Amino acid sequence: RRPIIAIDGPAGAGKSTVTRLVAQQLGLMYLDTGAMYRAVTWRVLQAGIDFTDEPAIAELVSQCQISLISSGSQPQSLRVWIDGKEVTQAIRSLDVTANVSAIAALPVVRHELVKQQQRWASKGGVVAEGRDIGTHVFPDAELKIFLTASVQERARRRLQDLQGEDQGTVSLEQLEADIQLRDQRDSTRTLAPLRQAADAIEINTDGFTIPEVTDKIISLYHK
Ligand code: C5P
Repeated sequence: RRPIIAIDGPAGAGKSTVTRLVAQQLGLMYLDTGAMYRAVTWRVLQAGIDFTDEPAIAELVSQCQISLISSGSQPQSLRVWIDGKEVTQAIRSLDVTANVSAIAALPVVRHELVKQQQRWASKGGVVAEGRDIGTHVFPDAELKIFLTASVQERARRRLQDLQGEDQGTVSLEQLEADIQLRDQRDSTRTLAPLRQAADAIEINTDGFTIPEVTDKIISLYHK
């Protein structure tokens, strides 16, 4: 049996950390689909391709090689590579974050990345996080979680996550506005918008610690 757990929700709801811990504790693979959209966005920006040039983006996404490497003992250290270049830090930059929703809305990009994500799960059980995992990528997942949190809480978490040169360049208010804009774009796009699956269980993470949310998901899985 290859169990699949889908963890969806808006930006900054705590998906990444919780998903990594659930995967580690259940001995399943961890799939960060947002990292894939981010890596493609980084590549498009780096190549200087215009966002309206769909044929060029289609070619890039169909030929790119994305590797997500997380070691089982260190679930926090996901490393991301695209076409032989490590982009683990680069894909978290404000520039990539500001542009990823536009790239992720393109049908050619979604089509190709969803195919790759489904191929992943054929290798074994996975805990996958994203926006459309329970609704589109793995509609038959045995457990679907929809993680939410208030915008204020999510902006605070994003501020803590910022690294390197972006640190100190952005205010909490700016991050709140960015998050709201990204939510709006992610939930209004035509193809596979951010939406809670009918059979998903919502968990609001406000006021809960990461271990508490992790335990809750694991106990739901064992039910
Ligand atoms: O989860 P993360 O914030 O890294 O996701 C970055 C962006 O990638 C999202 O804002 C969304 O535009 C896109 N995404 C998506 N579908 C997914 C995962 C991420 O469209 N399954």
